Amino acid sequence: MLEAKSGQTLAERWESVEERLARACQRAGRRRDEVLLLAVSKVFPATAIEEAYALGMREFGENYVQEFEGKAPLVKHLAGARFHLIGHLQSNKSKRAGELFDVVQTVDSAKLARRLAEAAVGEQLEVFLEVKLSEEEAKHGCAPEELPGLVEAVRGMPKLRLRGLMTMPPWSEDAEVARPYFRRLRELAEGLGLKELSMGMSNDLEVAVEEGSTMVRVGTALFGSRKLLQA
Ligand SMILES: *Cc1c(COP(=O)(O)O)cnc(C)c1O
Repeated sequence: MLEAKSGQTLAERWESVEERLARACQRAGRRRDEVLLLAVSKVFPATAIEEAYALGMREFGENYVQEFEGKAPLVKHLAGARFHLIGHLQSNKSKRAGELFDVVQTVDSAKLARRLAEAAVGEQLEVFLEVKLSEEEAKHGCAPEELPGLVEAVRGMPKLRLRGLMTMPPWSEDAEVARPYFRRLRELAEGLGLKELSMGMSNDLEVAVEEGSTMVRVGTALFGSRKLLQA
C-alpha cells in the first residue's frame, strides 16, 4: 500500500516506480519497453508536468477537459509531450477534447466516437475503448457484449486510430482483487485483435504488468497524494 511520500522528490518517486516496473517485467518475462508509463498529472499544476518533462517523462494523463484547458497553454511548448484523456468524457465536451488531447482513452459509445472523429483536426486521433468489467454503478465504459460492435464502428472511422482497450477495476487496497479484471480485458483484446491494454495504477501496476498491460497509468506514486491539493 502507498503512503503519502511527500518528503520525496519527483525524481526519487519516479525511480521507485521504475524499479517496481522493472521487477514486474522481469517476473513476467517481459521487456521494460513493452510497458509505457503514463504520468497522471490530474489535479497537479502545469509546473508538475514541466518538472516531469524535464526529468524525461513524455506521456501524461489528465481526467478533466476543463482542467486541462487551463494547463494546456502552459505545456504546449514541451516538444514531444503527449496528452491522454483518461477521465470520463461527456459528449458536449468531445469537440474540445478532440482538439486538446493526442489520445482519448475513454471512448465507450459509437456516438462519442463519431463526435470525436468530427472534432479531430488534421491528424488521426488515437483512441482506446473503455470497458466496464465491474458491477459498480458509478463506473463508465461499454459492456463487454457491446465491444465487437463498437470496435467495428470505430475501425470504420478514418479520423480515429484504435489502439486498444482500457479499464479501471473496482478500487481495493489489495492489488490481487484487480487481477481477474485485467485478465478479462486481455482476453477481450486478444479476441478482437487489439494489441494495447491500458490498465494498472499506482497500487496495482505489478499485477497489471503480469497480466499483459502495455500502459500503466500512474498518478499518486509519481506526484504524491492528491488529497493535499484537493482538501
Ligand atoms: C487518477 C487515475 C489514475 C491514477 O491513479 P493513481 O492511483 O493515483 O495512480 C489512473 N487512471 C485513471 C482513469 C484515473 O482516474
